[in-house]
Amino acid sequence: MDSTQPLRSAAFPDRLLLGPGPSNVNPRVLEAMSQPLLGHLDPLFLDLLDDIQEALRPLFGTSNRFTLPLSATGSAGMETCLVNLLEPGQRVLVGVNGVFGGRMVEVATRAGAEVHSVKAAWGEPLDEQRTIDAIEQVKPDVVAFVHAETSTGVHQPVEAIAQAARKAGSFVVLDCVTSLSGLPVELDQWGVDAAYSGTQKCLSCPPGLSPISFSERALSRVRARSTPVQSWYLDVSLLDGYYGDDRVYHHTAPISALYGLAEALQQIQREGLGPRVLRHREAGDALVERLAPLGFSPLVAAAERLPMLTTLRLPESVQTQGEGALRRRLLDTHNIEVGGGLGELAGEVWRVGLMGENACLESVERLATALEIEMNKA
Ligand SMILES: *Cc1c(COP(=O)(O)O)cnc(C)c1O
Repeated sequence: MDSTQPLRSAAFPDRLLLGPGPSNVNPRVLEAMSQPLLGHLDPLFLDLLDDIQEALRPLFGTSNRFTLPLSATGSAGMETCLVNLLEPGQRVLVGVNGVFGGRMVEVATRAGAEVHSVKAAWGEPLDEQRTIDAIEQVKPDVVAFVHAETSTGVHQPVEAIAQAARKAGSFVVLDCVTSLSGLPVELDQWGVDAAYSGTQKCLSCPPGLSPISFSERALSRVRARSTPVQSWYLDVSLLDGYYGDDRVYHHTAPISALYGLAEALQQIQREGLGPRVLRHREAGDALVERLAPLGFSPLVAAAERLPMLTTLRLPESVQTQGEGALRRRLLDTHNIEVGGGLGELAGEVWRVGLMGENACLESVERLATALEIEMNKA
């Protein structure tokens, strides 16, 4: 290879990102990220970190002191919750009705836990009674499930399952990667012990950070472990040394990414959580309505449908021609990205995300107009 070959670093197109994440980022967030660097122990930066931690708590519906932006993506947030709360040989019950429940099973298995699962069909929520029965039968140390299953577009009600788990003496782990700031999240009210999210979905930041929150009860459990947490990087007791009052070096915080998150959180505060949740609901409803005449129908029943991620069954004409070609034309000709189906839904559905910045009627209209043009051509 010619070592002077320039890298492809300039002039990427401005895509409308309507897939399952990342979503588009407000220009002011990108501007914030281009500010000069501070050191990760600079008092000005530590003040910013305090502000970010404070602003994350209401999004999670919690007063948990241990609420922080982990320096890694949502999957690392998942791993943090599971590897800290599980010791080898302990039992975990995982709700599996899509890709991300499946990923939790994989992480918990690698952590040496005895993994049990309660399943539902892709496109349906976990059945509450069956899940509660499984909790009573398995008596797991941890119950883990997904609030907003991005692989299927299903909204999982949390409270009844979390309360049954608490009653059985289990710790509750909740995946809030796609739900945070697009749906109400109420960790304290629901009785959730540990939760994680990601910045690139409804928070409309670049990918790379995972807001997480642990209750004091969960932290006490971690302190009482008889074996060390298998991951040094994700050990919450060590993380607490930097993000808590001591502010001692653990790893170098990703300064620029945190500037961006602070700006995004500021924008969420200005909008208000209530109006933001409503905006997501209205955009999701408008999408279903606007694409119905083109032959796209929602996979998930209205009462169980996520606002920010809609799984649409494709019209037969699109399925027979191969959905990949149409998605490629949306991208190449119209600069619009939508997500394909995963696993058993591949080829049959699209996943359309209207997250954060993109949860608005303009996105719906741009997608519908582009589809009308491309589907008439075929
Ligand atoms: C995106 C997503 C994840 C994984 O997040 P990454 O940032 O891709 O690591 C986990 N759970 C759900 C529900 C997601 O949508």
